[in-house]
Amino acid sequence: MTSPLLPTYSRIELAFEKGEGAWLEASGGKRFLDFGGGIAVASLGYAHPHLIEALHAQGQKIWHTSNLFRIPEGERLAQRLVDNSFADVVFFTNSGAEALECAIKMARKYQSACGRPERFRIITFEGAFHGRTLATIAAGGNKKYLDGFGPPVEGFDLVPFNDLEAVKAAIGPQTGAILIEPIQGEGGIKSPSPGFLRALRELCDQHHLTLIFDEVQTGVGRTGKLFAYELSGVQPDIMSIAKGIGGGFPLGACLATTEASKGMTYGTHGTTFGGNPLAMAIGNAVLDIVLAPGFIEHVAQTGLMLKQKLAALKDSHSDVITEIRGEGLMMGLRINDKMPAADFAALVRQEGLLVIPAGENVVRLLPPLIIGESEVAEALPRFEKACIAASKTITHAERTQA
Ligand SMILES: *Cc1c(COP(=O)(O)O)cnc(C)c1O
Repeated sequence: MTSPLLPTYSRIELAFEKGEGAWLEASGGKRFLDFGGGIAVASLGYAHPHLIEALHAQGQKIWHTSNLFRIPEGERLAQRLVDNSFADVVFFTNSGAEALECAIKMARKYQSACGRPERFRIITFEGAFHGRTLATIAAGGNKKYLDGFGPPVEGFDLVPFNDLEAVKAAIGPQTGAILIEPIQGEGGIKSPSPGFLRALRELCDQHHLTLIFDEVQTGVGRTGKLFAYELSGVQPDIMSIAKGIGGGFPLGACLATTEASKGMTYGTHGTTFGGNPLAMAIGNAVLDIVLAPGFIEHVAQTGLMLKQKLAALKDSHSDVITEIRGEGLMMGLRINDKMPAADFAALVRQEGLLVIPAGENVVRLLPPLIIGESEVAEALPRFEKACIAASKTITHAERTQA
């Protein structure tokens, strides 16, 4: 099939026409339970009445004005993010990568504003994903994403995840910040070992570095906390969010303390679209739901229930599922190395359930945060059937190898 789209994606032969709650309907009528959430984006599922109402109401008023003028809905959204986090200030963007660009620039500018402009380097971690711009592919360090695009943006020092000694060894006279996902998403739902984030915080305080958390995937309720940093009790100085905050509308943000953002004065950064009235109305509508009493507790409870059921599934299909990972509704199933995670995702899809492959042969479960017992009950037998099919393939692969 020839397509006018740049072929940077190998697309699955499915197109969805509509959705409701956690369910999607493909052209042709087949229904799928979506445990991928458009990669952690559809935080409130599809066709949420409150989001539709916000879109319609703002759509009839004004979509865009530019940041040359005040945007009251944006001031309100920023205030709510500040009231519910470590941060004092917010910069809105259209995507996760742009939120990271802001975070990276801010960390460099902070050191410069402190009279240490030579401290522009940032320590990052193997297996990380921070986006696809030139700076964020350098930050992530994935060779596949860097290959052929010329010299990587200077100033990122990659160290192994969870290796505190490597971090210490990497801190030099030019180091200005440490950037980490509190749980790696693309990398395979990898959590830091206990105490690791706290140790990074201490190193940052000791060496006058800023600590940046990339919560583009983990943020806005995903892990059963509003932000994943609450799981460890360790606060960053700068944090990027995106994905879930827009509920499907392109929206990201960079949050920071007054101190860490002190270099970002008038004229130092900008965006045409970021924070426009339409995006702000939808962001506020997402927060109306996510911040409602009990919502996040419900995410945590549903996550726990899902994890228990998946653990039982792993026990009865340990030849297919080798590990359960994650927090809240950000879960990972590590699949036997004999079967690529993408193949397992395809088997699950045949059962009408969508999941997303990630690194370390893990499939990710990032369902809408609105799911409950009934969706979990729908998902489990579908996983079970996929496991039975996978088991046959794996056994066959083992036999032919032997
Ligand atoms: C998705 C993601 C990004 C990039 O977001 P885009 O909106 O695709 O630019 C950055 N960091 C993390 C942790 C992500 O999961």
